[in-house]
Amino acid sequence: MKRFGTIFLSIVLAILISVSCVAPINNTTGEQKPNQNKPILSKPSNLIVFGQLKEGEYTEGKVLVGYEDRSAAMKVVELLKGTVAVDLPQIKMISIRFNGTVKEAYEKIKSANISGIKYVEPSYKRELIKPLPVDDTITKSIGAVKTTSLRGEEEFSHALWGLEAIGAPQVWSQLTGRYVTVAVVDSGVDGTHPDLAGQVIGGYRPSNNSILPPNFDSSFGGAHGTHVAGTIAARRDGKGIVGVAPDAKIMPIVIFENFDPETGDYDYVGDDEVAEGIIWAVEHGANVMNHSWGGWGYSHTLKLAFDYALDHGVIMVVSAGNDHSDQHFHYPSNYPGVIQVAAAEYHGGQYRTVWFSNRSDAITVAAPGVNILSTVPGPNSIGYEGWSVTSSANNGTYDYYQGTSMAAPHVTGVIALLLEKYPNAKPWQIRRLIQQAAIDIDEAGFDHSSGYGLINVANASVKPLPSSGGLSFDVVVTDAYEEWLIPTVFVRLKRLNGVGGDYYAKTDSNGVAHFSNIDAGQYQLILGGPDSWERRRTSEGVSRGLWAINWRMEEERQIEEIINLTSDSTKTYNFSSEFKLKLNTELTIDASVIIYNIIEQSLSEIAYTTSEIDLSHHSGLFLIGVTIGQPATETITIEATVTLNGHKISVSGKIGSGATSTILSDSWGPDAWWTVFGSN
Ligand code: CA
Repeated sequence: MKRFGTIFLSIVLAILISVSCVAPINNTTGEQKPNQNKPILSKPSNLIVFGQLKEGEYTEGKVLVGYEDRSAAMKVVELLKGTVAVDLPQIKMISIRFNGTVKEAYEKIKSANISGIKYVEPSYKRELIKPLPVDDTITKSIGAVKTTSLRGEEEFSHALWGLEAIGAPQVWSQLTGRYVTVAVVDSGVDGTHPDLAGQVIGGYRPSNNSILPPNFDSSFGGAHGTHVAGTIAARRDGKGIVGVAPDAKIMPIVIFENFDPETGDYDYVGDDEVAEGIIWAVEHGANVMNHSWGGWGYSHTLKLAFDYALDHGVIMVVSAGNDHSDQHFHYPSNYPGVIQVAAAEYHGGQYRTVWFSNRSDAITVAAPGVNILSTVPGPNSIGYEGWSVTSSANNGTYDYYQGTSMAAPHVTGVIALLLEKYPNAKPWQIRRLIQQAAIDIDEAGFDHSSGYGLINVANASVKPLPSSGGLSFDVVVTDAYEEWLIPTVFVRLKRLNGVGGDYYAKTDSNGVAHFSNIDAGQYQLILGGPDSWERRRTSEGVSRGLWAINWRMEEERQIEEIINLTSDSTKTYNFSSEFKLKLNTELTIDASVIIYNIIEQSLSEIAYTTSEIDLSHHSGLFLIGVTIGQPATETITIEATVTLNGHKISVSGKIGSGATSTILSDSWGPDAWWTVFGSN
């Protein structure tokens, strides 16, 4: 019977080589007796998760490669005849620049069957959350700004309504952000601005691996980052403005630079470079980071960099965006563990969330985000973009901006103040503290506009640091036998009995979805997936999309459970499946059913029968075929039914005249494997 297997194997190989997903077998695996009890799969090392490609949303000529084994990643560099752009052993990622498209690179990597690669993804495009124009000339006339009862000793204190709104001046006798380092991950900062003199420490420009000296003008990406930096930590010297935390230090991390006249925008340096910048900041003492930028596309690299920061106790503040939409797939704002900030205004005698601010259940708090006066680069600066106010005391240039980009630095500044008091606070403790101290605005209680309300540091500074209510949680998804760690499973934590956002992450190639520094509480946990092949039918047939680990919706599993999270924990969930084959064609000749495991590259053989065959004990990716004892004298058509998780799927195959085997396939074709998880 050995030759049946060998012939079947050669057909399988021909198919697999033609679809370029698994490379030739190194050692010929002979037939195996079907094993009805034991799982036949171990952790597959040649499964690679490929990031989704949507036209126009990523950069060509670069891929980001997550690895288990560094030498495997270097093989990809060779394969693409590329060069290493960014090398981050901390999160086991290298990015590769090469000539060609990302789709071409995906195909080459699939063909090469390299073990030890976790994921390959494009560098998605992201944008600064741009300030909205402040056109009101009355607002711009500095004497005429009317908001709350304003006070203070700084030259422009009467315009700094945001500081009043969050209670910052009330705490300055105690807390000013001493010894706290704030990374401004943005367009760079003009450290030569007179109101930022002495406030800007060394930073990093990942695109050219340059360390930026203190007090340096790094506004390579325009004025945005300088405005953000001023709100956080402009000098308290009587001149110009003052920041929320005037003794905190600003560490610029430049992730937007080089104005492109074609797009009218500064370029985003890429998720790989941003990850490098974030990790540099963590390793050089950043305590909190401000992120007033974002975009679409779930990046494993960016998620790993955010987790790296959060797991090192660095607090990540992210602006919600200015699209007035309720959105959940914008990153980094929707990674778990961050603090997401909406923009508030003072209107008709009260505070409220401003119309343009994005809504979502993941909003943590609101902070002042309209008519925010702050520092902007002057005419001699790289990042000069104009100004509307100059200081007669220091000749510095200032402008009014508005947007959630301006709200986030108010929160970041508050956190710098609180970190002076609680230097070892974990990210979730600080988040809980600012939630508990927020002033309720908009709808009573938690709402999707302002989260817990308007942040208030005067309240927060007198409250104890919460000692419970946060944790880190890992979800591990495996097959029925805990041998196959399943990637690309969607994990959602839907909050019950309480307020706040849902959390969402995908399992990585180790089958783990990591939720760093999330809120404790009761959740409905929903596991779904794994991702199916992105596929569509065209006039030429089925067009192959992106490679993922299953083809058909019937192969996706779902687990739902109510869980109560109280402390750091890890929980393992097992997918299982029903997988049965009923051959409907009677054969009078000697024949066998072959089950080919494309991960282990091994065969099992079962005697041909028209009784239903239960294959539910199998776990992994499989093809099913039939072989006959001697070459067919005429074409034999074999009809069968696969029952997969309750769905009956018709399959068939033809053994041509002179041939001895066929693969049984459904309408997705003979290269579409079955993804199954075993059954106990
Ligand atoms: Ca000042």
